[in-house]
Amino acid sequence: PLPDVLSHPAVVAFSANRPNRPLPKFGAYYMLQTLGEGEFAKVKLGIHSKYGEEVAVKLIRREVVDNETKMAKIAREIEILDTLKHPNIVRLYDVFETDKFFGIILEYASGGELFDHILAHRYLKERDAAKLFAQLISGVWYMHQKNIVHRDLKLENLLLDRHRNLIITDFGFANRFNHRNNLMETMCGSPAYAAPELVNSDGLYVGTAADIWSCGVICFAMLAGFLPFDDDPTNPDGEDITKLYAYIARTPVSYPEQISDDARSLLAVMLVPNPLARADLATIMRHRWFAINVREATTFGLTVKELEKLAEDGPTLRRLAAQRAT
Ligand code: ADP
Ligand code: MG
Repeated sequence: PLPDVLSHPAVVAFSANRPNRPLPKFGAYYMLQTLGEGEFAKVKLGIHSKYGEEVAVKLIRREVVDNETKMAKIAREIEILDTLKHPNIVRLYDVFETDKFFGIILEYASGGELFDHILAHRYLKERDAAKLFAQLISGVWYMHQKNIVHRDLKLENLLLDRHRNLIITDFGFANRFNHRNNLMETMCGSPAYAAPELVNSDGLYVGTAADIWSCGVICFAMLAGFLPFDDDPTNPDGEDITKLYAYIARTPVSYPEQISDDARSLLAVMLVPNPLARADLATIMRHRWFAINVREATTFGLTVKELEKLAEDGPTLRRLAAQRAT
């Protein structure tokens, strides 16, 4: 028997706030509350009208997609998402369009943004941060193996599922890179997470290393509770982007006292302004900070195929941990 969708808790809670209006529906889904908003899209909780399955629906207004370039950008986001199957990368389920919207139907990450998770705890314990960071690195390693760079890794684009596993989302700036020159043309991302090489608008070396810089910023933010390069006193709020970049390139990181020596040594090899001298993922994955702090199985050491199998089986590492234990 099919569940009675209209008595699903999410639907009841939503309807209670808007008593006399019918639920808006796109195709098979009822659209409920807004889960989050980025620069380009609004993401709503959707619930399947027949099966009650919860999904996230990323809605992009057609009117903002007013030229070929923007159209191609959305198509690229969808195409890239469709090639990625990893336990810590959001799954693409479907796409649709209406006369007002393009819609991308995604796996629902019910635990919210890592940003809010950190704020709620002020900063994370090393063991919790290390588990989340291992999941981030696993997802990034996998996409880089598939020649895809994310280019907008930040706390707002990292979500948690209901088991508090990390889910990487928002491939709106992602692109394929070319192994031969590791070069990408477009300047993008968010200043506080942006690698210094993004300053040089010639775009040299802007490749996988830029994602690693952002991972360093994210790891620092989890352990510190604030961003490492966000408060240039001469340039409040990073308003002048050129100034912010110059500040980032010349400012040594200063660590709050709760951050351990092992964590500092890992952060120090990621937050290296020169992309050629920055640690690669293999170096990061071997760092002793993981060995000390991550008690559960990590996906390090698994092949792309094994990671995909794991994603097909379900988005949890517990299964893997159990397999390893036997
Ligand atoms: P934009 O490209 O506009 O930044 P995002 O894809 O980052 O759009 O989505 C905006 C926000 O919506 C995210 O920061 C997050 O809060 C929320 N969100 C996005 N995807 C999901 C999802 N799959 N599950 C739950 N919330 C999501
Ligand atoms: Mg976003």
